[in-house]
Amino acid sequence: MERRFFDKKCLRLFTLIAAVALLFILTGLNIYADDGNEGTASEISQDQDSQGAGQVSDGESSGEGSGEEALADDETIDEPPLQFVSVKKKIKAGKTFKFKANKEGVTWSVSNGKASIGKKGKFTAKKYGKVKVTATLGDEKISIKVKILPKKVIGIDPGHQSRANLSTEPIGPGSSTKKTCVSGGTRGTATGKYEYQLTLEVGKKLKKELISRGYKVVMTRTKNDVNITNRERALKLNKDCDVAVRLHADGGASGAKGASVLYPSSSNAYIGKLSKKCKKLSSSLISAYCDATNISNRGLFVRNDLTGTNWSTIPVALIEMGFMTNSSDDRYMASSKGQKKMAEGLADGLDAYFGY
Ligand SMILES: [Zn+2]
Repeated sequence: MERRFFDKKCLRLFTLIAAVALLFILTGLNIYADDGNEGTASEISQDQDSQGAGQVSDGESSGEGSGEEALADDETIDEPPLQFVSVKKKIKAGKTFKFKANKEGVTWSVSNGKASIGKKGKFTAKKYGKVKVTATLGDEKISIKVKILPKKVIGIDPGHQSRANLSTEPIGPGSSTKKTCVSGGTRGTATGKYEYQLTLEVGKKLKKELISRGYKVVMTRTKNDVNITNRERALKLNKDCDVAVRLHADGGASGAKGASVLYPSSSNAYIGKLSKKCKKLSSSLISAYCDATNISNRGLFVRNDLTGTNWSTIPVALIEMGFMTNSSDDRYMASSKGQKKMAEGLADGLDAYFGY
């Protein structure tokens, strides 16, 4: 019993000692933790105090003063640089856009004639290509490159070439019917000019006119001494063009005169699906062409045997610009003035077709 009592007593004592020891340990930890916190806090406050003291002591004399001066200087230097606040990097020919800068009184300029810009930054895209827009204000000058996209891409095929290519090729995709690759063409009875020369002269003037109106132009040839078949010409223009214009001139009896356009019918096995568009293009071209020139209008004719038309996958029109075997048409078409009118008329026709 006694022993048991002692044991119990011992156990109680032991528990008490253990509890007191635990209390000490916990208290010790608390103290330690508090110390740590206090230490950190005091460190911070000391740091703050020292900084504060620094500010106060140097304070109004040099510290803050120099700080304010530095800011003031910075304000002068850091006045926002001249910047564009409204720009366009791509714009279609014929469209306008108002460029803006973050400052008033800017002088606007463009690097070339592909566009113009007004005093207030109104930019007008004129021709396909690239142009740099610059804003100047005193010593500040900023520029941005602008890409002008073409209104449309026009394919021009000046018919024939200096030497005919009498080999044959299929008149359309998958066709077993074959025709001469490039025939010789006709010749001016009054001027002696060859058809291939006339078509290239007009083609080059048309290209110039179209570029000035914001179009991009692809030519099947720019020289007379080439060897490109009618099929190859069509394939070249199919690649990037929206429409193709084939330039030719007629030959016949001396009394025959005037211009006509040849287009494929809806029953054409190769390009029948585009017949409507081809007809619309043909109609736009002949009207505008005859309005602009002294050449009479013979109208539209269906032709389904033209290789260069049948291989086309874009709306295409073949214009017979007049009769080289008629002295009046021949002289008019050979003249520089006449060719200028012809080119303008064809360009008018393309504008009308696209709705410009
Ligand atoms: Zn021809």
